[in-house]
Amino acid sequence: MSNKGKILVGNLDESAEKARSWLLTQWPIEDILDWAIAFSLWPPHFTTSCCGCEFAASAGPRYDTERYGFLPFVSARQTNLLYIEGTLTRKMARAARIVWEQMPEPKFAIAMGACAMDGGIFWNSYNTVLPEEIGIPIDVFIPGCPPRPEAVARAIITLQKKIKTQGAFSRMM
Ligand code: SF4
Repeated sequence: MSNKGKILVGNLDESAEKARSWLLTQWPIEDILDWAIAFSLWPPHFTTSCCGCEFAASAGPRYDTERYGFLPFVSARQTNLLYIEGTLTRKMARAARIVWEQMPEPKFAIAMGACAMDGGIFWNSYNTVLPEEIGIPIDVFIPGCPPRPEAVARAIITLQKKIKTQGAFSRMM
């Protein structure tokens, strides 16, 4: 009888070894890494503007973004996704850059709202900047003012698809 796909229950070490061997024979290790990273997107708690209210709503029971493996976290050093939630003032841009630099590779960024895309209602203001101007490359843009919580969820799914098709480490090469 074939043992393919079977996992022995009882001895933890033996079960882990069987699971590891089975996984490695099914997919290339890069695909497993991309899959794991796509479902472990942890943004730091970092709110720049009013779009943050919609971002917070997306974590509520109605949209429940945690089911995508999306978990806002306290320490920037254990996170891999920076959500720019709306307007980025010059003061907050400095904080955003510090947070971005502390995040380990591979890391991703999503720009939420018209303000983070092109300035929005603060277009051409002396006191606002765009994420790209401070060296934060954006993977997914979410249009709207403000974007609704389901748009936040959709951006997560879009980024997951991008990671799985292009590879999590592609931007670092
Ligand atoms: S896009 Fe609208 S809701 Fe979002 S930060 Fe700008 S003004 Fe606020």
